[in-house]
Amino acid sequence: MSDAAARVDELTALLEQANHRYYVLDDPAVDDATYDGWMRELAALEESHPDLARPESPTRRVGGRPASAFAEVRHAVPMLSLANARGGEELAGWHRRLRDTMAASGIADRDVTFVVEPKIDGLAIALTYEDGVFVRGATRGDGTIGEDVTANLRTIAQIPRTLPPPFPASVEVRGEVYLPLEAFAQFNARRLDEGLPVFANPRNAAAGSLRQLDPRVTATRPLAIWTYGVARPDQIGADEHTATLAWLSDKGFPVNPDITTPADIDAVAEACERWEERRAELDFDIDGAVVKVNQGDVQRALGSVGRAPRWAIAFKFAPTTAITTLIDIPVNVGRTGALVPYALMEPVAVGGVTVTQATLHNHQDVARKGLMLGDKVIVQRAGDVIPQVVGPVVSQRTGAERPWVMPDHCPACGTAVVVTEGEVQLRCPNNACPAQAVRSIQHFASRGAMDIEGLGDKTVGQLFDLGLVRDVADIYDLHGHRDEIVALDGWKDRKVDNLLAGIEASKGRGWSRLIFGLGIRHVGGITAQAIADVAPSADALREASVDDLSRAEGVGPTVAESIAQFMSSADNVRTLDRLAERGVLMRQEGVAASGEGPLAGLTVVITGAVEGFTRDDARRAVVAAGGKATDSVSKNTDLLVSGPGGGSKLAKAEKLGVPVVDAADFPALLAGDLPVPRRDDAAG
Ligand code: NAD
Repeated sequence: MSDAAARVDELTALLEQANHRYYVLDDPAVDDATYDGWMRELAALEESHPDLARPESPTRRVGGRPASAFAEVRHAVPMLSLANARGGEELAGWHRRLRDTMAASGIADRDVTFVVEPKIDGLAIALTYEDGVFVRGATRGDGTIGEDVTANLRTIAQIPRTLPPPFPASVEVRGEVYLPLEAFAQFNARRLDEGLPVFANPRNAAAGSLRQLDPRVTATRPLAIWTYGVARPDQIGADEHTATLAWLSDKGFPVNPDITTPADIDAVAEACERWEERRAELDFDIDGAVVKVNQGDVQRALGSVGRAPRWAIAFKFAPTTAITTLIDIPVNVGRTGALVPYALMEPVAVGGVTVTQATLHNHQDVARKGLMLGDKVIVQRAGDVIPQVVGPVVSQRTGAERPWVMPDHCPACGTAVVVTEGEVQLRCPNNACPAQAVRSIQHFASRGAMDIEGLGDKTVGQLFDLGLVRDVADIYDLHGHRDEIVALDGWKDRKVDNLLAGIEASKGRGWSRLIFGLGIRHVGGITAQAIADVAPSADALREASVDDLSRAEGVGPTVAESIAQFMSSADNVRTLDRLAERGVLMRQEGVAASGEGPLAGLTVVITGAVEGFTRDDARRAVVAAGGKATDSVSKNTDLLVSGPGGGSKLAKAEKLGVPVVDAADFPALLAGDLPVPRRDDAAG
């Protein structure tokens, strides 16, 4: 057998196995990128060796064989798959082929118009209505024969039981059943608690939920649906896809309101990209955008090839979940001594970046997820969210996996770890633990705190190991060690100059950032600002009682106690004194929150990305403009600044009638060039 023939056999077997796991068991063993890679390779081999292309090849088939537990439904009009394009160039290639086919069909002169829809990551279903009554619902199955899931579909309230007249004698509506993202997250969390395997993605969870033998089980899963077509548009008199969508909407089916009809293929590409940008804000997962030719007669002239229509294409996004191997679970020691395990994995592309690490929060998280070393694990990364290990692919275990044990001694200094009541995190209690010291200094120098340019995490580690910086005050003595630093590997005059200049500049960063930089437990950037307001200098902080501190906005007894405890340590007080002696600004200066400015007296929340600002910069800018920056939207919020990705806070602000300003207008707002919308304006 030739190499090509052997590879075709191999790929066919791999794809068949993957199809079974994905479509029949709803439990994929490989991620979509791997699967798509095999599919593309097989398609390419079949094209270069047409004699090896079998009629039953996975490249020509749709989905998987229906499960025998369900009655079969034969689709009068096959339910096809979609060809896909990865990026603008492949989309343009599809458009060129489409024009060529039109030319060959003698309709080269027709203008084509397009519809762009979200590609919902769920499963396709067909809903049959006879005389206006919902009589049967089926899965896609293998495209020709699907599974009868009528009883389960009846648990989805969004599916109309009857159609308002007029309606045709028979009509088959098509759409995608999905599990909303929040429900998906809760569902997987519950499964972990129950010791059940997690679902790899919302699609598999939706499919697993709909393909239940007992509809009462399906009823407990909050499935939802978007509809996007009918099997035979002629039955409803629709000549164009947009007419079909209008009909569906009119009859009470959920149709996504953000479907657009871009003017040309460039605008189509832009619309696809817009969906990709919006992806993180949606409460359902989309794995792409679907581009469809709008005119019915052009659709018919184009027809289909193999398992997909020529008149539509899926513009695929980077997958947000992937499957990879868990190599190890090392443990980090944080600056407060918390032992934080993290997953070290084989590199895998997910959400557009290559991921090798993901936090596992604490030992209970590892236990809850039931992770074993060597497991195949599902990794998730959506939008800007840091990667997460969803759980293991239990069915892929070979027996070679090893259990993981949380260390009972600090991996950095060997001190026995302690359990603090009411906390899941184990801690290293050693105040002199080098790992904690390094992390504290890294935190102090970090962007949100003193923002010391040239003093990144690696440099801190290097200077600590040399004994040049043992605590944060030592940073301000580094100018006395210039020669030692220049002599180090990888250091030159210029680099040292930059570091020393960065250190000098940080002295004036301000009191609240210094408080934050001290790394007091429970004191984040916003709390530090509030503390600086009630204790505007180091002396004031030293003298402040727990009661005084509790008067700060958003500071409860735990936080106040934590600060008081920090200040009761002689070591910490000495560090503050040493910082002051070295000329670090130790008192509140500049515009206070109660001061004047375009945002004077207003409580402002920022959500999503604000171009040109880090989140901390944006908050500081609010304060500098006289306002107060807080974290969550409540009835006391005066204004929400909302950028891309600002999903839930935006929704809450709208619900509470809080005025919203687009992040793009933030600079104008700060400059006082934009009238500040008031709550009353929004209501009126
Ligand atoms: P597909 O999901 O790429 O595209 C076709 C499907 O898109 C339709 O059947 C429909 O269900 C859905 N869809 C969503 N929104 C739509 C809209 N607005 N209009 C029309 N259709 C819409 O194709 P497929 O054949 O279902 O699945 C193939 C893909 O599934 C592969 O690319 C792969 O990523 C994944 N897969 C993965 C594995 C695995 O083991 N990881 C196995 C099999 C399939």
